[in-house]
Amino acid sequence: MAGAGLLLVTGCGHTPEKKARTAGDKAAAGQPRKAVSKPPPPRRIDCDKIRCVALTFDDGPGPYTDRLLNTLRVARARATFFMLGQNVHGFPGVVRKMALDGHELANHSWSHPNLTALSPAEVRSQVQRTQHAIAAASGGVRPTLLRPPYGSTNAKVGRAAGLPMILWSVDTLDWRYRSVSRDTRVGITAPRRGGIVLFHDIHKPTVDSVPKVLDGLRKRGFTFVTVSEMFQGKPLKPGQTYTEAVVPKPPAPPRAPGASPSSSSGPESPEPGSPAPGSPVPEVPGPGSPLPGSPAPGPLAPGVPAPSGR
Ligand SMILES: [Zn+2]
Repeated sequence: MAGAGLLLVTGCGHTPEKKARTAGDKAAAGQPRKAVSKPPPPRRIDCDKIRCVALTFDDGPGPYTDRLLNTLRVARARATFFMLGQNVHGFPGVVRKMALDGHELANHSWSHPNLTALSPAEVRSQVQRTQHAIAAASGGVRPTLLRPPYGSTNAKVGRAAGLPMILWSVDTLDWRYRSVSRDTRVGITAPRRGGIVLFHDIHKPTVDSVPKVLDGLRKRGFTFVTVSEMFQGKPLKPGQTYTEAVVPKPPAPPRAPGASPSSSSGPESPEPGSPAPGSPVPEVPGPGSPLPGSPAPGPLAPGVPAPSGR
């Protein structure tokens, strides 16, 4: 798989922002909750029939996560949070609220190491400590998905982790540019049907961009689902890597009898050559992108590691 062991550069975007932790959690705790004790069940959504996209937020919870949850709640959108175990204890109220709002709680390791550089026992420890932390904070939710930091994984990591590994089809590069206008533009235009979109809720510009991203994607006809909702009916296997949901070719729209159904593939259907994990999303260059001084993400040659803050 393309991302296996390719990490060289660690411009990691998960810098802990300890100061604001308490504030975020107070905000969550300050909101009176109804006496709801259980997360809502997964919705029955057939993403083979409707246009689904899974927004995912990594490296939190953090000081902006509670505000993001409020945004998602207003938009009635569900998302998936790949959380670092070491951040969970600072925001138990936020994690609980996340669960009760129907979002998917998922595992992003304890401390964001490159898992391919660890022993199997260390990989297991990274995963299991985080499982316990999330379960404790959420009131018993045990994640079923892992996103290996930087998307860096291999068969050995997969075996040790024992969970399906979810990468992404769209890397917004929000961690690199920290630009609301850019996050908004990429977030609205890049996703395709069945896509998994990588954001980071530890960055303020990202969270600031989400209302418009939701609005823009909704106008494109998308429904916001969790990763597990998107893969309903398509069992995810432990140790396997996934970058998007493969959507079958849409059925032919109603046509006159006798019309050929062979040309029914719409522009939103994922093509076989979808971007490899870690590859930058092809983008239309525009104002504000990239930021001055930032290297433009170019297409990567096979085997060339992606600079990564994922
Ligand atoms: Zn990460």
